Amino acid sequence: MAGGRQNEKSVQIAEQALERIKALGLPATPASFELWFAYASGEHPELTAEINRRLAQNGAISGAEADRLYESFLAVPVIAQRAEVAGTQLSDEVDQVVAMIEGAIGSAQRYGDDLADGRHAIMPAIDRDTLRLIVEGLVHSTREAEQENNALGVTLRRSRQRIDFLRDDLHAAQSASLTDALTGLPNRRHFDQLLNATVIETRQSGKPFALLMCDIDHFKQYNDKYGHLTGDDVLRLVAQEIRKSLKGRDIVARFGGEEFAIILQQTGISDAALVADHLRAAVLVRKVVKRSTGEDLGRITVSIGVAEYRAGEPAEQLIERADACLGEAKIGGRNRVVDERDLGVVALAPGDASNAGPA
Ligand code: GH3
Ligand code: MG
Ligand code: MG
Repeated sequence: MAGGRQNEKSVQIAEQALERIKALGLPATPASFELWFAYASGEHPELTAEINRRLAQNGAISGAEADRLYESFLAVPVIAQRAEVAGTQLSDEVDQVVAMIEGAIGSAQRYGDDLADGRHAIMPAIDRDTLRLIVEGLVHSTREAEQENNALGVTLRRSRQRIDFLRDDLHAAQSASLTDALTGLPNRRHFDQLLNATVIETRQSGKPFALLMCDIDHFKQYNDKYGHLTGDDVLRLVAQEIRKSLKGRDIVARFGGEEFAIILQQTGISDAALVADHLRAAVLVRKVVKRSTGEDLGRITVSIGVAEYRAGEPAEQLIERADACLGEAKIGGRNRVVDERDLGVVALAPGDASNAGPA
């Protein structure tokens, strides 16, 4: 039976997932199980490829890395789904409010009709009893309309609160799906959107813009030497330093791992190279100490590749060129900026730290 075979396959995948968790010494949490089940099932080719790449490179995957993989490959779609649900609830709520308002318009109309009837009835009416009946009728209609309005007011206020709540939830879910949890910077997904928007804007304005790809040097050594949590602190610190050094509409995003992408709006290649070198120097002068022990962690250095957007090219091409420059900066000895004009070293200030990695 097809269902039986399917079930057997799921059990196999589940077993493989558990084996992986055990072999890698990871905690057997539901999120961890979900991650390795997804990996074993091969249903997320990008996730599988990323894990294979890391396993080939390091032979292991840490708990923190697994958490991040889970977050970017599996949790983000869940958040997007949550935003979708909140959006649907929000529009249901709006529909209800519209229906209530329509109902209120109807009852106001009926009340108006009652008043008009009363007015016509008064014209020929002369005796007191008839007049009293008409007035009583009008008073009754007025009370009814008043009560309906009060009830409507209460319901509308309640709806308003629920709508506010749903809207906040929606905003939170949307911004979580675009933010890197570790550094608080825009994540890769948001970066792609921002870069595309910048390309479109440049097409209209004709103004240049530049892309910086910035990668922490010898970061693996930091992790290996001081542990992943300290590595995470270093990542936050570099993110903070870059953010502080930028201004206006410039954007820094976490591109992946220990790599940051920076969009410099309305900036040509030579100014971009200067900004890049300023960033490099700003990171270099930051003193890094281990939070738990106060131990001096030496200096962090970054390498940066710089490229300017060329009219008409797809965004990926710009990324590739900036990346190629970054590669040159690494080959050239790290702690340096390379821009695409001649793929030459733009600046390495005298007395800068050596390229030997963490002290
Ligand atoms: P290079 O100078 O050539 O860039 O060397 P590197 O060691 O910085 O580069 P490599 O690509 O060999 O290693 C990057 C390391 O970054 C490996 C990975 O474990 C680590 N890493 C990626 N993301 C995170 C993270 O979120 N937190 C921590 N602590 N480490 C991370
Ligand atoms: Mg690196
Ligand atoms: Mg890297």
